[in-house]
Amino acid sequence: MSKRIRPIRRWEIPNGKEKPYVVTEWHDSVWKCSCPHWIFRLQRTGEDCKHIIDVKDGRYESSEEPREYDICPGNVGKVTVNTDTPQFLRVLVPLIPLGSHQGGWLAYTCMYDCLRLGIPWKNVMEYYSRVLRSKPTKALVTEYIEEHGRLEYTQWVRGLGWIGLKTIPVEKKCQLIGR
Ligand SMILES: [Zn+2]
Repeated sequence: MSKRIRPIRRWEIPNGKEKPYVVTEWHDSVWKCSCPHWIFRLQRTGEDCKHIIDVKDGRYESSEEPREYDICPGNVGKVTVNTDTPQFLRVLVPLIPLGSHQGGWLAYTCMYDCLRLGIPWKNVMEYYSRVLRSKPTKALVTEYIEEHGRLEYTQWVRGLGWIGLKTIPVEKKCQLIGR
């Protein structure tokens, strides 16, 4: 999967008037730099250049690679994060019952929870514009949930799926699974 070959983090190292060098951290403690010294010499020996050493010493602010979000329907009663994939966030969202008067409320709840997880609104809308017929604004969703509370499924029944939608106060944290 293409998402797996992205670096975990990246740093831009000022290089005078030239393009900054870019240091990246990869999985399994692999570090790379875009400077010629690292590319043409150190890469082969496995040594760190001064830029990588400086980054490891904490001399530069990490310019975090924008995190990838993968929102997908799952067998969950509420928005649930799978943290087994550190390079991107897999967010499982409950299925929205079609034709139910609570469907919109549940969708708003999920959108609200996604926002609380720090998922950019455009990623949230990318998923929910396919689920909802309307295109609510971020402010509308936030206001609605803060006024009415969140909606969660409370019970899993074999053969039926998730049932028992219940209003939950907004303070309650999302469930985390995995690491
Ligand atoms: Zn370097």
